[in-house]
Amino acid sequence: MSYLEALRGALGEANVLEEPVELHLFSKDASLLRGQANVVVFPQDADQVSEVVKIAEAHKVPIVARGAGTGLTAGASPTEGGIVVVTTAIDSIEIDLENRSAWVGAGVINLDLSAAAAPHGLHFAPDPSSQSACTIGGNVANNSGGPHCLAEGSTTSHVLGLEVVLAGGEIVRLGGNAPDPIGLDLKGLIVGSEGTLGIVTKALVRLLPLDPDVRTMLLAFPTVESAATTVSQVISAGMVPAALELMDQRMVQAVENWLQAGLPVDAAAVLLAEVVGETEGVEAEAEIIADLGRANGATSVEVARDETHRATLWKGRKSAFGAIAQLAPDYYLHDAVVPRTRLVETMSAVYEIADRYDLTMLNVFHAGDGNLHPLVAFDASDPETNRKVHEAGDEIVAICLKNGGALSGEHGIGIEKRDMMRTTFTELDLDAQARLKEAVDPSGVFNPSKVLPAGSRCFDFGGVRRKELPEGVWV
Ligand SMILES: Cc1cc2nc3c(=O)[nH]c(=O)nc-3n(C[C@H](O)[C@H](O)[C@H](O)COP(=O)(O)OP(=O)(O)OC[C@H]3O[C@@H](n4cnc5c(N)ncnc54)[C@H](O)[C@@H]3O)c2cc1C
Repeated sequence: MSYLEALRGALGEANVLEEPVELHLFSKDASLLRGQANVVVFPQDADQVSEVVKIAEAHKVPIVARGAGTGLTAGASPTEGGIVVVTTAIDSIEIDLENRSAWVGAGVINLDLSAAAAPHGLHFAPDPSSQSACTIGGNVANNSGGPHCLAEGSTTSHVLGLEVVLAGGEIVRLGGNAPDPIGLDLKGLIVGSEGTLGIVTKALVRLLPLDPDVRTMLLAFPTVESAATTVSQVISAGMVPAALELMDQRMVQAVENWLQAGLPVDAAAVLLAEVVGETEGVEAEAEIIADLGRANGATSVEVARDETHRATLWKGRKSAFGAIAQLAPDYYLHDAVVPRTRLVETMSAVYEIADRYDLTMLNVFHAGDGNLHPLVAFDASDPETNRKVHEAGDEIVAICLKNGGALSGEHGIGIEKRDMMRTTFTELDLDAQARLKEAVDPSGVFNPSKVLPAGSRCFDFGGVRRKELPEGVWV
């Protein structure tokens, strides 16, 4: 029996897509890199995912897990072909009020989880700007962050347990509600593994109480540097606000053209700051931020009047990438991170690179944790512009690394950053990671060719080959 027949038998014909146009739709995520799916399947539960894994292993076909496909590194693009496993039908939410947690299907949309928790006075803290579309499975696989992860931590801080389908189709539960589980942190191994070790079918997530009070502030600055300096000073004043988001003038103008969120289009940079907690503390912290902003030359400091105004400001921030469609048919979004103290000099270098390559660059980023998102708006059909965009991108990553940063702040590695892994990891580091992948996924079916560059352990899909290690190294 062919693997396609086996999949139809296991999942039912309605849950197996094979038409060229359907395959085309699932052959790419939100990055620019397209793969080619052989088949797209929609399992309804962990048992069906397990069947898919067994079939893939028996036929040596790659498996690419996919949530909503909002990833920006080609993680969910089937670049080696194979079976795209879409989790969106696995969408149950079971809230456990006593433990303030919830078992959530991998295909649940991030915002739907917080909407389900809100009537109980709870919410799920990680809030990627894509939260109206991205799934919990994708959040777990990429260890995603978001504007409100500055104070609360990224997804990994909110995952208590996981249900995962591993090699051989084995369904395991890792972690749980216990505050300090014994043994190896296997759940920690899966969070951030980008679909390369197994398929997450459910996550046990922590739910936090809704904040008693909140102040959302909009500060306008005459330069990006003065906004970035304010961010550093806020943190060094001993506060960790719920969010500190920065947008430059071009980005503000793009958003305003589209949404009319009331952002000041004449400011060189806008800082969206949010503080939460008890009213007294919130008022005191908002005052400190306003003072620091004014001391750095802020031309206006505005506090959201009410919940509607606050929601409008956040909509402006979270819709920023969508606003780019007015400027150019494509965009290339970088994700890098630097220590907050190096923000100012890094931003100056980023603008210099864009000018030198004559590129239209806009910036919107989680300034509080030094996570930059320089975004180039361009037309990908022009090969010369394409070349410049990628060369400029490499320079931006290089400058972030030189300034003490990391390859990725929150979007992951996928294919986009895979071949840059050697700038950060030694041969031995990569070999250790590749050995771990081999141990968990011996047949190499889970998302092959992602994250680890070719030759990390001479491990390629379809065969395992060892490469020579430096003399004296024990293997
Ligand atoms: C407009 C926009 C704004 C964004 N803002 C943010 C942001 O603020 N913060 C941030 O961190 N990211 C952001 N992102 C990136 C992206 O939304 C996140 O990485 C998100 O978590 C991906 O979820 P998804 O369901 O779309 O995953 P997909 O894109 O479908 O998959 C992402 C990766 O996870 C793997 N995967 C998916 N589901 C599973 C599963 N069940 N088990 C195992 N592996 C799985 C895939 O194989 C792939 O490697 C943004 C993207 C866009 C387009």
